[in-house]
Amino acid sequence: MNAFFLLLSLTSLASVERPATVLRSLRDDDSAPRVRVRVNPEGQFFRITGDRLVVGLAARPDRGVSVPASEWWIDCRDQTLGRSDANGVRRIPRGGVVISSADGILNLNGKRYPEEIRVYPVDSACIVVNHLPIELYLESVVNSEFNSKWAKEAVEAQVIASRTYAWYQMLEARRDLKKLYDVESSEKDQVYAGLDRVDALGRELVRATRGMILSDKKGRGPIKAFYHSTCGGSTVVPEQVWGAKVAGFRRGVPCSFCARSPVSEWSLRVSNLDMQTKIERALKSDPDAKSALPSWFHLNPAAWLLTAVQPKLALATQTKEQEVELKFISRTEGRPARTASVNAYRFRNWVSPVLMKSTQFQVSMEGVSAVFRGRGYGHGVGLCQWGAKAMGERGYKRDQILSHYYPDARLSRQW
Ligand SMILES: [Zn+2]
Repeated sequence: MNAFFLLLSLTSLASVERPATVLRSLRDDDSAPRVRVRVNPEGQFFRITGDRLVVGLAARPDRGVSVPASEWWIDCRDQTLGRSDANGVRRIPRGGVVISSADGILNLNGKRYPEEIRVYPVDSACIVVNHLPIELYLESVVNSEFNSKWAKEAVEAQVIASRTYAWYQMLEARRDLKKLYDVESSEKDQVYAGLDRVDALGRELVRATRGMILSDKKGRGPIKAFYHSTCGGSTVVPEQVWGAKVAGFRRGVPCSFCARSPVSEWSLRVSNLDMQTKIERALKSDPDAKSALPSWFHLNPAAWLLTAVQPKLALATQTKEQEVELKFISRTEGRPARTASVNAYRFRNWVSPVLMKSTQFQVSMEGVSAVFRGRGYGHGVGLCQWGAKAMGERGYKRDQILSHYYPDARLSRQW
């Protein structure tokens, strides 16, 4: 224990009520597992405010609790922290700190989070993690990933998918004792923006499905319940997107329900020059880009000029990985033109996962530009959100929506 926490523990107030206890008594969430969500406050310096905030050691939460203050600041650039109402700068101990408040609510850079925020110094920055019951986490995710005002049965189906996905990631993360969090709060996992997104309707729908998760037909643990915005006509299996099978997904399903999604069709024009710049940028930022491209290109991109892009396979087939073929001519006289095949999902991330909305597209070359005309938005695996929404509006029940999009899964209650 460093001197800071020794000092704090000597001055700690025994009368400070532990916030987790307060919230638990309010919410009766004892049996639900707690999820560790990495939150990413903007910048490297931030403030945490709240009612009688106390700081303790993350490794020993029972020890070294500080005197309460209404505001603490944290500077991740030099991994220090301090109270705003007192002088003194302290290093964040290697095992991290846990910050909690008397009423169970913490305000981090203007966003409210429940229960506990932990800050760990890692390399020359820090990792900030919110610990909270998974059911409370879902009450917030409802309004970030979908919308509590959509048809009730559709939202309940989506909450179950969302809970299953989180539970899967939690079990995966806990296999590595060094992992400090289970899920990211971004699109990388599920968007989570804290308590400000929680509304009464979302809370009610989460409670109606409490503890329900999807497992494979034999009931072996949760499936990785992927979902996406709009499939564009049919869902696909994980191996088509990422090149590897995932338990619980054996077939895609036809889906006419998302035809009225605002993103059921899209088009994008990208010049060859712009495309090549994006590919070269990916070589610097994506650690996997090098292995995804042939060595003749990645060793010397400047020697080649992109001239055409085309889908390698009929992208709607259910058996093969989706790929695109890039055609290059040599800038050096006498060398033959060459082609490189790359995974379509990876290619989409290089170009722009927002502008290139899916990997279900046709390409036509128009002069020195490729024009992509595609269907759907997202990777296309698992539940199609706009499809589920339409199913709910047409009177389908929650379980019917789930068995449509996850035909190889079954539903059970885990807590
Ligand atoms: Zn669909």
